[in-house]
Formats: sequence, structure tokens, C-alpha cells
Amino acid sequence: MNPRIKNVAVIGTGTLGTQIAIQAAAFDYDVKAYDQDPEIFPKTIQKVLGMMKFLGKGPTMPVAEWEKAAQKVRLTKDMAEALKEADLIIEAIPENLELKRKVFTQIDSLAPREAILATNSSSIPISRIESATQRPGKCLNMHFYQPAIGMNIVDIMGGTRTLPEVIETGKRFVSSIQCIPLTVKKEILGFCFNSVWRAIKKQTLYMWAGGFVDFRDIDRAWMVFTQMNHGPFAIMDLVGLDVVYDIEMSYYHESKDPKDHPPQALKEMIERKELGVKTGKGFYTYPNPEFARPDFLKG
Ligand code: NAD
Repeated sequence: MNPRIKNVAVIGTGTLGTQIAIQAAAFDYDVKAYDQDPEIFPKTIQKVLGMMKFLGKGPTMPVAEWEKAAQKVRLTKDMAEALKEADLIIEAIPENLELKRKVFTQIDSLAPREAILATNSSSIPISRIESATQRPGKCLNMHFYQPAIGMNIVDIMGGTRTLPEVIETGKRFVSSIQCIPLTVKKEILGFCFNSVWRAIKKQTLYMWAGGFVDFRDIDRAWMVFTQMNHGPFAIMDLVGLDVVYDIEMSYYHESKDPKDHPPQALKEMIERKELGVKTGKGFYTYPNPEFARPDFLKG
């Protein structure tokens, strides 16, 4: 346990917020969570359990322990209740700058003055959000990668005024919940590992949408090369194709370079509600995706 942090509040309990809340509860933090959709937390739990099953490899903790921790997360009916005694607040709502700024203003007005405010954004630097609060020194990026399925790394990045002790507290908190902090020394879009992942994602989407190769071959190659049991397209399905699209659009808005615009074919999948694991269909079909079959690597 991190002595500076006892009470954690998670705002937004979709794919990531749910996993973050449960990970913190598993390591004895007192966790409250709020989502504008009161039904989403149990639904997301079922989806994450499904992911654990078909990925069939080392999550950060045994499933029974994870489920027990899920029961410790206290869901609240309103945001104020979740924030009342929070020492650390982790926002995990959709990847939209205006929305995140609006919610940060709300959080700032409701949370204790000493509380640290973190965003789980995949692409927006906290320097773009901090001015929506009265406490820029206590704001930071804390970007998780689906700890429940073994991706227990977390990018940590400060804004223009983040206090060094806030970064240190953030890192200690991340380590205390059995995740690995990756510290960004100088602001970069996409943080530490997410920048690397972004390059892979951009190239693989380009190759698929341009009709150069079958996406399954990219996943096969990746699985052999990295010894992982899923490839980039399976990872995008796990993330959610709507989330992937929004993240790519953030990069595009930044650069205005047409090469950074996500492919139209991805948008069309989203319009057909093919969002990946969460809707049962994305690049693969769930709950029994092709890449998890024993003969998948044979091609
Ligand atoms: P998601 O769509 O699964 O969940 C977002 C949740 O936020 C939904 O349950 C929604 O009801 C809730 N929400 C929306 N507006 C709200 C509000 N005003 N107040 C409270 N709740 C609100 O999205 P996600 O995949 O969990 O992504 C959330 C954030 O985490 C995004 O910034 C994303 O970039 C980031 N992220 C996602 C992944 C991933 O693998 N999906 C990984 C790392 C980071």
C-alpha cells in the first residue's frame, strides 16, 4: 500500500476503468467507482472474464482473486459520492478532449483539495487538461494497458506544472498494485510504450485497409515473432475499435497529416457496431476467436 493514497476513485467503468478499479481493490485500496451508465460495471466484468478465458495466459492474478476484488469495488450513484474522500482519482471516460476537460472541472470542484487527479487517456497529454482544474500541480497522465489480461504496464507523465512528488506518488501507487511504471521524462504524444504501440497500429491498419495483406497473417507473424498468443488486430479488438479510432483521430487532429487519419474501413466497421470483444465482433468473432484456435498459426 502507498501511505499517501488510501482511497481511490475511478470515474468511468468501461473496459479500462473497471480493470483499474479491480486492480486497486485487489491490493487493498478502498475503491469507489462511478459511471454515468449504472449497468456497465457488471457487463464489463463479464467481458473481461471472457477475454481472460480466450487469451488463456497469465493474467496479473488468478481469476478467483480478481473476481473477489471486483466485489470490493463500491459503485456509487453519483460522482460526488465517489470523490468525497478520494486521495487519487483516475478518470477513464471516452477519449475526447472537451469531455475530459469538462469532467476534470467537475472532479476538481468535488474532490478533496489534496487529491491527485489522473487521466487514463491513451493519447491526450495532461498539459491539455490541467487548466480545466484549479490544481494543475496535482494532475498527471496515468495510462494503464488492461492489467486483467497481463498488460500491467502504466505510462506516467506530468504536465507543465505537475509537482515531482505527485509523479513519485503516482509511480509508487502503480508499483503497489503490481504494475510497472514507465516514466516519461519529456512530454510526448502517446507517452512511453503507447507511442511504440501506436506506430505498430498505424502501419498494420494501413496494410490491412490498403488490401496489401490479410490481417490474420500480420497477427500470425507477430505471434511467432514475439511469442505472444495474440497479434495487433486481436489487441485492437480487445481495446475496442471505437476507442482505437478515437485515439488515432487525436493524433490526426494534432498533426493534420492525412497519413495519420485512421482508415475509412475502420470507421465502417464501427458504424456496423463491429467494435471488437465488447460487441462480439471486430476483426475476429467472439467468444471463440480464430486466433485462439490451436491450428491458427498454420495459416
Ligand atoms: P469505454 O468506452 O469502454 O468506457 C468509457 C466509460 O465512460 C463508459 O462506460 C461510459 O459510460 C463512461 N462515461 C462517459 N462519459 C462519462 C461521464 N461524463 N461520467 C462518467 N462516466 C462516463 O472506454 P475505455 O476503453 O475504457 O477507454 C476509456 C479511456 O481509457 C479512454 O481515454 C481510452 O483512451 C483509455 N484507454 C483505453 C484502453 C483500452 O484498451 N480500451 C487502454 C488504455 C487507455
